[in-house]
Amino acid sequence: MRNLIIDLDAIAYNLGVMRQRAGGVKVCGVVKANAYGHGMVEVARKLEEAGVDYLGVADVAEALELRRAGIDAPILAWLHDPHEMFVEALNEGIELGLANEDHLARVAAAAEITGRLARVHLKVDTGLNRNGASAAEWEGVLRQARALVAEGFIQVVGIFSHLSSTGEAEDLAQIARFDAAVEFARESGLQFELRHLTASDGSLNYPQAQYEMVRIGVALYGLSPFADHDSKEYGLRPAMTATANVTQVKRVPAGEGVSYGYLHRTAAETTLALVPVGYAEGLPRDASGKASVSINGKTYPISSRIAMDQFVIDVGNDDVNMGDLVTIFGDPAAGVPSADELAAAADTINYEIVTRMGGRFKRTYLGDLD
Ligand SMILES: *Cc1c(COP(=O)(O)O)cnc(C)c1O
Repeated sequence: MRNLIIDLDAIAYNLGVMRQRAGGVKVCGVVKANAYGHGMVEVARKLEEAGVDYLGVADVAEALELRRAGIDAPILAWLHDPHEMFVEALNEGIELGLANEDHLARVAAAAEITGRLARVHLKVDTGLNRNGASAAEWEGVLRQARALVAEGFIQVVGIFSHLSSTGEAEDLAQIARFDAAVEFARESGLQFELRHLTASDGSLNYPQAQYEMVRIGVALYGLSPFADHDSKEYGLRPAMTATANVTQVKRVPAGEGVSYGYLHRTAAETTLALVPVGYAEGLPRDASGKASVSINGKTYPISSRIAMDQFVIDVGNDDVNMGDLVTIFGDPAAGVPSADELAAAADTINYEIVTRMGGRFKRTYLGDLD
């Protein structure tokens, strides 16, 4: 009745596009937050098959879920509970992004308990001011990392940071700070193989900042990281299509109010089609009166209020019937509304649209492994 159709082949294809754009450096495929709503395990399996170098997640819990599903690829997790105990992460060979001395100490303790060498990526803040060691903390983090390397508890695999995506001047300033922080680490005697800074946007904008790895999320899902450029410009294919089947149609006279608050009133005798998707599925209520959907190749505005479970489309005298397929968004190349358009209607970004899709939607996969 409600389907999220996930085209895994499109995701593998997008990996190839982004790998080529990044000049062949390693790609960390970011699958945090249930792979931006696409299904973390299925996407990770496909990316692993397609030869992704790393999988990126926020939390250790996500990384462990991937391992439990049999994913063997290197996994990097970078956002930790203040009291995180890293024992299970090390037992499962999860690499850790670390930004402070306390977490370094906890990882060293876990390395001692498990007898495993912890592979860590040190995160330096270059201006985003989220996690990452501040300029003032960096020297202390490096000193402690060198000591723990010497004691045999950790191996520093990489140094990384994250851009604010504010504008070119801000990004270039961050790139310069990143280079300086890396240089400082090298001069302090620390050895590491990977520098990684850019996500989808920086990877598309700054060829000089691909270093040894890029961390790609939204572009893998075929979406553009920029509001003013669509993904087709980069040769990316949107991977998620949200559909539902009309559950009821009825003829009503002119002057009828439709759905909560009568945001829509019928102008003439017309047919109303009921679609069983609401804000419980992640369809933003804010898109009421602004977004459109596609039925039988024709686009109709969602002119009435989106409710928890359903919304109603006024299809005029068109031949729309119970069971007809409604596409809420998908690949605009197929003539249906895009996630970008739904995002604009709800005053948000495409990232949020796909990531919030859930509720009673059922995910079905195209191009799944056997
Ligand atoms: C989410 C995230 C990414 C991926 O960002 P996209 O814009 O989706 O490519 C990369 N790095 C970090 C640290 C992230 O949190």
